Amino acid sequence: MSSKTGIDQLRELEQRFDRELAAVVDHRSLEDIQARYLSRKAGLLTLQLQNLGKLPSSERAEFGRVANQVKTRIESALGLLQTTILEREKNEALVRETIDVTLPGVRRRTGHRHPLTIVWKEIEDIFIAMGYSIEEGPEVETTYYNFDALNTPPAHPARDPRDTFYISGDVVLRTHTSPVQIRTMEKMKPPVRIICPGKVFRRDAFDPTHSPMFHQVEGLLVDEGVTFSDMKGTLERFHKKFFGESTQTRLRPSFFPFTEPSAEVDITCVACGGTGCRNCKGTGWIEVMGCGMVHKSLFRNVGYDPAKYTGFAFGGGIERYAKLRYNVEDLQLYFQNDMRFLEQF
Ligand SMILES: [Zn+2]
Repeated sequence: MSSKTGIDQLRELEQRFDRELAAVVDHRSLEDIQARYLSRKAGLLTLQLQNLGKLPSSERAEFGRVANQVKTRIESALGLLQTTILEREKNEALVRETIDVTLPGVRRRTGHRHPLTIVWKEIEDIFIAMGYSIEEGPEVETTYYNFDALNTPPAHPARDPRDTFYISGDVVLRTHTSPVQIRTMEKMKPPVRIICPGKVFRRDAFDPTHSPMFHQVEGLLVDEGVTFSDMKGTLERFHKKFFGESTQTRLRPSFFPFTEPSAEVDITCVACGGTGCRNCKGTGWIEVMGCGMVHKSLFRNVGYDPAKYTGFAFGGGIERYAKLRYNVEDLQLYFQNDMRFLEQF
């Protein structure tokens, strides 16, 4: 091997390096070219330098000088390019990962309460403020609690399987929340002051005024010396709180098996304030619930002394109160879960 050839090879290698360097675009191809030329074992330049020992001693100095030149050039070119590439890749990453904090955020949809729940909770709050507590009872109920204990005679039409869902001969889906009165009095001695909101079930087809499932709220107060006027005052207070202070309440005689005397509760029409309109069929009054003094037979059924205690009970549909509050008559809207409807509350 002549020195001329050795130096020529070095120069060719250098030119080849320059061409390949021009094709380097990122840190990966940079690492490749680095290894290809400078790897300690098989780098192209490394292999050239190994030729040094084979040269005649007179030529070694010149070869060594050129070899060092080429090596220095390759190393500094690679070093320079590395700095450039790393800098560029860092900037690209910054642009790619930039968060524009001035952009408006993505607003998450928040949930809210169903209109029936809003009314339910508001009714609860009003009675809790009057010292009542909340009681619950089973939705699958025995005929004893749903009918017998509530003084409903065996032949009463409410027991008809065409009106009531029977699970078996003496188990039903409760048709009202009144069984909770009995269950509460069985486990509690007077004074009793409770309301029981919950689901009730009747065999009705689903239409704008009927639903096989709806919600009631039941109230019960038992103590010594409770009078009919206590009941009227309580119901007046509740309806003023719920519908506004100008709301008037009146009681009309009625009949329920579990209260005596019994009454229907009317309030002044929420639409016209009592002057008469289409909503109240011109009467100025709207019926909202039933009530009455607890029948003595209920007290006997739960072991209360009817000579010592008196009490009143009342019950109404939560949907009824929602309809009046929101002026939405169609019962189906409350159960269809159409977001266009529900989002308005
Ligand atoms: Zn009216």
